[in-house]
Amino acid sequence: MGAGSTPGADLPEHPSFLWRNVAPKKHYDVVIIGGGGHGLATAYYLAKNHGITNVAVLEKGWLAGGNMARNTTIIRSNYLWDESVGIYEHSLKLWETLDDELDYPILFSQRGVLNLAHSLQDVRDSVRRVNANRLNGVDAEWVDPQQVKELCPIVNISQDVRYPVLGATYQPRAGIAKHDYVAWGFARAADAMGVDLIQDCEVTGIETVGGRVSAVRTNRGTIGAGRVALCAAGHSSVLAEMVGLELPIQSHPLQALVSELLEPVHPTVVMSNAVHVYVSQAHKGELVMGAGIDSYNGYGQRGAFHIIERQMAAALELFPVFARAHLLRTWAGIVDTTPDASPIVSLTPVDDLYVNCGWGTGGFKATPGIGWCFADTLAHGRSHPLTAAFTLERFTSGALVDEHGAAAVAH
Ligand SMILES: Cc1cc2nc3c(=O)[nH]c(=O)nc-3n(C[C@H](O)[C@H](O)[C@H](O)COP(=O)(O)OP(=O)(O)OC[C@H]3O[C@@H](n4cnc5c(N)ncnc54)[C@H](O)[C@@H]3O)c2cc1C
Repeated sequence: MGAGSTPGADLPEHPSFLWRNVAPKKHYDVVIIGGGGHGLATAYYLAKNHGITNVAVLEKGWLAGGNMARNTTIIRSNYLWDESVGIYEHSLKLWETLDDELDYPILFSQRGVLNLAHSLQDVRDSVRRVNANRLNGVDAEWVDPQQVKELCPIVNISQDVRYPVLGATYQPRAGIAKHDYVAWGFARAADAMGVDLIQDCEVTGIETVGGRVSAVRTNRGTIGAGRVALCAAGHSSVLAEMVGLELPIQSHPLQALVSELLEPVHPTVVMSNAVHVYVSQAHKGELVMGAGIDSYNGYGQRGAFHIIERQMAAALELFPVFARAHLLRTWAGIVDTTPDASPIVSLTPVDDLYVNCGWGTGGFKATPGIGWCFADTLAHGRSHPLTAAFTLERFTSGALVDEHGAAAVAH
């Protein structure tokens, strides 16, 4: 950016037309509940990969008004277990060509992600994860504090602090994208193939006939459905309860914040589980920071101030230079967390009702990948191989995919 130019002034313009504003039809082959990234990507791949276009996405508010445009946009695939790497790496590969695929500037920036280690146990776990990643073909490296400093000069690598930096995992292909543009890119492309995107349409009930889903009740009338897909993130358990299905999910507020616009000072993405802070610099110039979840359950898109205060104190230890920046805005989303910090992508005991939820604090990065796989599940009525480990059965069989080390509070 040249001296004196306005940060963000060179962001691309949107096309003049995005999507049609339609009234709901009486019946669709597939009804997707939730107009966030996952619902929109699922609709797009249903049409694109499977030729299924008699599809509606029902959104109770506005498209991407949930977690989709509230997240801190970290994209990476360096999870511990094979099952997780399978879906996240598939997604990362899709991100690498998504601009062209959607013919939309999603501003995917592969600036690398550092996950800092602050204790000997952190180091052991992180090195183990790097080795596991490499066995799975993921670009993972272990870097020492000096290399951390070279990658991100404003990180404090003094050993004389509460959480000294002992090293970090580094994934060079990881990065960030512009979340609202991603949603609009998927929405525009799905609409162009005939998918109906219906906003201000809240699902208030789900009807079944003989154990099979038949329709959804909404504030805009009853809409018949051949298949119903839940993509409702923090509200998934509320919707599942409508058919008596209890999901192993807890919904929590998760907060993020941005600073005022700054000249480029932060060239990569830095995450620290121990310090509880995740920082990148957005395309416009704000420093974007994510926190850990608020500990109580709730459905309000706001969190408690003491979480932000604690997070800022921690951020200042890692990035002393932030002391001179002003906080511009804070907000929260509602995240759907599972006992093993892995998602649920599954058929249900109700025929033709499918769930995609439990992505907690880290589902943005999965957006294209899960859209691809969930569309395949809806088209064929069975799990996609990349999501087969994430069905509801694992909570009774005990075959959990414990990603607390790589996901947990992190994004
Ligand atoms: C502060 C924050 C930071 C995050 N940071 C990251 C990150 O850096 N990287 C990452 O990978 N992930 C991150 N996440 C997680 C990520 O945002 C979510 O996992 C992901 O967005 C969930 O999928 P979605 O986009 O479809 O959800 P959402 O966008 O929440 O979509 C669900 C939609 O369902 C709608 N809905 C709910 N109930 C109904 C109903 N009854 N009828 C109709 N519609 C309904 C909602 O209004 C909402 O729009 C973060 C989340 C938050 C909140």
